[in-house]
Amino acid sequence: MDNKLIITCAITGAETTKAMQPALPVTPEEIAAGTLEAYEAGASVLHLHVRKDDGTPTQDVAVFQKAIELIRAKCDIVIETTTGGAAWMTPEERLQPVTLKPEMASLDCGTVNFGDEYIVNTLPIMRQFANAMRDNGVRPTLECFDLGHVYASHILIKEGLLEEPYHYGLVLNVPGAAKYEVDVLEFLVRKLPKGAFWTGMGIGGKANLDCLYGAIALGGNIRVGFEDNIYYSKGRLAKSNAELVERAARIAKDCGRELARPEDVRAMLKLRKHA
Ligand code: ZN
Repeated sequence: MDNKLIITCAITGAETTKAMQPALPVTPEEIAAGTLEAYEAGASVLHLHVRKDDGTPTQDVAVFQKAIELIRAKCDIVIETTTGGAAWMTPEERLQPVTLKPEMASLDCGTVNFGDEYIVNTLPIMRQFANAMRDNGVRPTLECFDLGHVYASHILIKEGLLEEPYHYGLVLNVPGAAKYEVDVLEFLVRKLPKGAFWTGMGIGGKANLDCLYGAIALGGNIRVGFEDNIYYSKGRLAKSNAELVERAARIAKDCGRELARPEDVRAMLKLRKHA
């Protein structure tokens, strides 16, 4: 079972706009419809950001709740809410969706450049997030954008703030942080705790596809979707999130990896099932 491959779809994100990608799901209704398509194409985890009506990112619990209810009415995909939010948000604001007790949530493991912006994650902020996730029964995805973030996660583990099995998101190619290169990915993977699950997340069209192949080759899991990449190939926008999931599923199967379905993810990552 542990060799099954988890495809996460990050369908909206905080930075992508409809001007960049007309098929971007923005409203809770669009997000639910896009999630169902991605699920049917082979995604078993949804990485969820939500937006206000005008398209700006929000961590408003009511909007998350509405999106989650609409998604739950359509399929049983595992839902991972973001706590990264957007670059200008306070930690308290970013943490809000965790109170909805999603099965998973992202936990950024360090301060990182985000192009010309930056997201602050000090160790005290990370401890606050890890505690809130533990109290709410939420499995963190430990997002690491650089080597130091992996070592920061080791500190949280040593302090007893994280419970096994660990799941890492190795986010590569954010401008100003570590690039995607196969040896960089391989090195980061070697520094993870023994037995940890991990998902390769390449940002940008070329890095996303390269990281997909790299992660499959190294036995990891993969993430696609408009948060990370809006293109199907150079200069050709993807028609939908599902089109990217379909390709990822096809490549995984060609490489002999069976796709995990949501019930497999729940067993592999020992998720606490929420209503
Ligand atoms: Zn995100």
